[in-house]
Amino acid sequence: MTEPLTVCVIGAGQMGNGIAQLAATAGHRVALVDVDEASLARGRAAIETSVARFAKKGTLSEEQIEAVWSRLTLATDIEEGASPADLVVEAVPEILDLKLDIFAKVAACTGPDTLLGSNTSQTSITSLAAPLGDRADHFVGIHFFNPPVMMRLVELIRGLQTSDDTLERARSFAESLGKEVVVCQKDSPGFLTSRISAILRLECVRMLEEGLGTAEDIDKAIRLGFNHPMGPLELGDFNGLDTFYHVLTALEKAHGERFKPTPTVHNMIAAGWLGRKTGRGFYDYTDAG
Ligand code: NAD
Repeated sequence: MTEPLTVCVIGAGQMGNGIAQLAATAGHRVALVDVDEASLARGRAAIETSVARFAKKGTLSEEQIEAVWSRLTLATDIEEGASPADLVVEAVPEILDLKLDIFAKVAACTGPDTLLGSNTSQTSITSLAAPLGDRADHFVGIHFFNPPVMMRLVELIRGLQTSDDTLERARSFAESLGKEVVVCQKDSPGFLTSRISAILRLECVRMLEEGLGTAEDIDKAIRLGFNHPMGPLELGDFNGLDTFYHVLTALEKAHGERFKPTPTVHNMIAAGWLGRKTGRGFYDYTDAG
């Protein structure tokens, strides 16, 4: 692998704790930052559960797990986590002003060579680089998939100002984690991946609305007919339908009508049927269901 890096991951949620775990497992020193101790404790607990699973499967030894913890620190202060970092990866919620505020803070406490990346699944990389001024060339989209410790792909996204050197450093980091890389060469909302998954799920919702088949059969058709590990509707429930709605709204603005949320999507959001996390989505996760 490349030289171990000092990495700061901002946001210890679903994606951030997985990215931190991956980086520490690969030998990098990692600071995982979140707003408060409770959020950090949730991130830490998720990593504990995940490494225990790998240990049970025999793919991580006790010594390797100890080494992961020895390389990982948790912090609530961005400056403490980011100032020594060679690489900062932001993984906070998909809210533009929040991400911009984070990068303004990161720009103020990091050195001129620090590589800066966002795990955004749709937001313009060029807009996120705005607070960085003449360091915008050091900024790149580093898009992991859920769950980061299992999914093989990292999508790199070139912003308008991203330099070739930045892209290559990000590629080398992703490869040090054992990931395959694809590059979205233009900063276009939804990149190469979120755009495809959104349109596929939306077409499944349209078929459901037309009464062509049940959710179970539509998912089964895609799983078994096209070798997808999960159907688009069950995956939507797993990732959260609020996230799906935000993605569609942004993609409709960028690419037009074909991404317009259908009445079913609007109704599910209004009813609070957001998927697994609320007990109801395309499927029913309550005891009754
Ligand atoms: P999440 O809600 O699970 O976690 C976000 C974390 O960020 C939370 O722990 C929150 O406390 C923390 N946070 C909020 N404000 C912060 C701040 N000011 N400083 C530090 N931490 C802060 O979200 P997630 O699902 O991990 O998504 C994070 C990013 O990754 C988003 O941009 C999302 O679009 C993208 N993404 C998500 C998925 C997915 O399937 N969930 C997949 C790929 C990319």
